[in-house]
Amino acid sequence: AKCWVMTKHFDGFPKTSDFELKEEELPEPKDGEVLLEAVFLSVDPYMRPFSRFRVKEGDVMIGTQVAKVIQSRNPAFPVGSHVVSNSGWRTHTVSDGTGLTPILPEWPKDVSLSLALGTIGMPGLTAVYGIEEVLGLQKGETLLVNAAAGAVGSVVGQIAKIKGCKVVGSAGTDAKVAYLRELGFDEVFNYKTVGSLEEALRKASPEGYDCFFENVGGSFSTVALQQMKNFGRIAVCGSISVYNDSTPQTGPYPHLTMILKQLKMEGFMQSRWEHKHPETLKRLLAWVKEGKLHYREHVTKGFENMPAAFMGMLQGENIGKAVVAV
Ligand code: NDP
Repeated sequence: AKCWVMTKHFDGFPKTSDFELKEEELPEPKDGEVLLEAVFLSVDPYMRPFSRFRVKEGDVMIGTQVAKVIQSRNPAFPVGSHVVSNSGWRTHTVSDGTGLTPILPEWPKDVSLSLALGTIGMPGLTAVYGIEEVLGLQKGETLLVNAAAGAVGSVVGQIAKIKGCKVVGSAGTDAKVAYLRELGFDEVFNYKTVGSLEEALRKASPEGYDCFFENVGGSFSTVALQQMKNFGRIAVCGSISVYNDSTPQTGPYPHLTMILKQLKMEGFMQSRWEHKHPETLKRLLAWVKEGKLHYREHVTKGFENMPAAFMGMLQGENIGKAVVAV
């Protein structure tokens, strides 16, 4: 078995030397246990900030994977079945079944199991909860979403369209912007080449924004808040533009804007609604089956390329969900 260890806590942008590929000896599964083999591994933005307090130097990196049961002494997980597992960056894991989520039985044959890490997995759940539980997005409203061509953002925009909203999205390459148009976003722009972000936001929706699904933070956020309508709502999902900063952010925060526009801003983590995951995953799967929810994936081949895939995602290489196929 192989695993990727984090040798050093990240300082600034992660480096290849922060990771080391190691061999791991695994015990034979005991009664009630299973042996898992990774098929697809996820690389996600949260790994950058969360590794600071969830991973000790020398520990295996945190992460989720789709794995195949290759030995089983637990009838709930038969050999050949697939599960989503929080195994970290490992090729093989012995598990007693705790925390394993079986792939939905109704999963269509022609849909890659990797989607259980993306559109029909944690990022898809995040999109649903941000829209429904935090924003309470209503038909006819205008929604802004950034990092819009990514795993979460691309689902956010499409669900907002399903709900009958106007959707404005930003992303960092022209190819991503073209993809957002294909997905049915109403207004899209490349935030890197647009010149004035303020003008781009105003042009895309001169009457302002009812809701803002925030994935990026930093200066984007400051500018976007000025374009909210009065009583606008902001779901703070992520802040990827500051994850690699060595020193914590200090303002200025647009408090005056928040007051004058009487905005409501709420940070959230998808885990708050864990009790709703089974039902929400079924809805996401149904939307995919019905052709209402489209997806792309950025697949890196080879377990040995985990760090490269992770760093590439942080740099914006991916359209849709970034995953590694073993
Ligand atoms: P993505 O698939 O969107 O990949 C990350 C993307 O972020 C890149 O492709 C890049 O796209 C963009 N990006 C990177 N650096 C910057 C920067 N400096 N400024 C602006 N954009 C940048 O990742 P996810 O969809 O998985 O995650 C999106 C956000 O949602 C993240 O902030 C993440 O932490 C958050 N999240 C929060 C969860 C929660 O429960 N609260 C759960 C899951 C995700 P581009 O080319 O457009 O710049």
